[in-house]
Amino acid sequence: MGYIEPAPIMDKENPFESMMSRFKIAAGHLGLNEDTYNVLKSPDKQVIVNLPITMDDGSIRVFEAYRVIHNNILGPSKGGVRFDPNVNLDEVKALAAWMTWKCAVVDIPYGGAKGGICCNPRQMSSGEIERLTRAYTTALYDVFGPDKDIPAPDMGTGQREMAWMMDQYSRNSGMTVNGVVTGKPSVLGGSEGRTEATGRGVMVSALTALEKLKINPYNCTVAVQGFGNVGSNAALLLADRGTKVVAISDITGAYYNSNGIDIEKANEYRLNNRGTLDNFTGAEKLDSADELMMLDVDVLVPAALENVITKHNADRIKAKLIVEGANGPTSAKADDIIAKKGIVVVPDILANAGGVTVSYFEWVQNRLGYKWTRDRVNRRSDRIMRTAFEQVYNTSVKYDVTLRIAAYIVAIDKVAKTYAYRGGF
Ligand code: GLU
Repeated sequence: MGYIEPAPIMDKENPFESMMSRFKIAAGHLGLNEDTYNVLKSPDKQVIVNLPITMDDGSIRVFEAYRVIHNNILGPSKGGVRFDPNVNLDEVKALAAWMTWKCAVVDIPYGGAKGGICCNPRQMSSGEIERLTRAYTTALYDVFGPDKDIPAPDMGTGQREMAWMMDQYSRNSGMTVNGVVTGKPSVLGGSEGRTEATGRGVMVSALTALEKLKINPYNCTVAVQGFGNVGSNAALLLADRGTKVVAISDITGAYYNSNGIDIEKANEYRLNNRGTLDNFTGAEKLDSADELMMLDVDVLVPAALENVITKHNADRIKAKLIVEGANGPTSAKADDIIAKKGIVVVPDILANAGGVTVSYFEWVQNRLGYKWTRDRVNRRSDRIMRTAFEQVYNTSVKYDVTLRIAAYIVAIDKVAKTYAYRGGF
């Protein structure tokens, strides 16, 4: 289809090592004992399965798939399932650990997990993706469960895949179990507001951070890297709150308009154009997708992949505020460069926690057999996001650390305290 590659991964920093280096710093500030440190640095469980699938042409292809449970001391483990050709065990391990910290930061009763299938859904038919999703669910039937481990959408998956997972798990159980996955379509027990939830949390985090920085959102320019579910909803909501979104990008390139892009139009265009901004005319196309990262804007929202802000480009970033819609967009080696430049970063485990927060609401509603209104969902998730932001902010002041390290401190402290009470080794 003539896609150009997504923003280049310029630095091969291992995402698990990136996670660990922040974990070590936060553990040092907390004076975490060595035993707890050793428990938390290793995932509880790592499952690798090979899934043979009949392709539409009759051939059989074997797909490698993963589910990593990082920790479940706070409750059943929670985290999305990613369908992407770059999925690998180290990435899934890092993403699973980030889910533990993310759930702890927003104070919801979940541990952390992540899953992934190494596949390219863009080159597969809907039938092939369905067979793969069902095979994955059956292979992991013993791992999943509404009180054990609860998957959700992530990159390359959405409501459609969650419906198949819920159906396959229910078939295997001999009854309908809708609380086993979140991010389902509404008729299957999906929550109002779940689709926009991550983007909405990014908007709330961005506005709260702008308030602290005393920047008026009405005088504020924004660039959003990635125009999938998270990026497009964050851009829509940020534009709605008065900021000027001047740049957006996706797998087809980066688009810039100094007068502000009509985000509603861009989103409509995307939805009618097989999910991409290819040939979008509401803005001028930049020479390279990486240029978006270096624009002279107030707020930069990386909302796509890991490792897009690295030691190679961090020095050229001009934004005053970075709000991490993606998981792990900034490599650990870029942290110091960014901090020295005085750029404030609202870290992933806080900024994009709106998604799992509304996943939690979905699970609560499924267990109650009751549906909340969109208003109630939004009000409660906004409150959780703001409370978590304040706690992380106050922690950063108390320990004199970045918001990222403060978020790790808040999360690790909560998990460590739970271990101290529960013990049992
Ligand atoms: N995949 C999303 C994340 O990284 C959502 C996880 C969930 O809702 O469980 O936060």
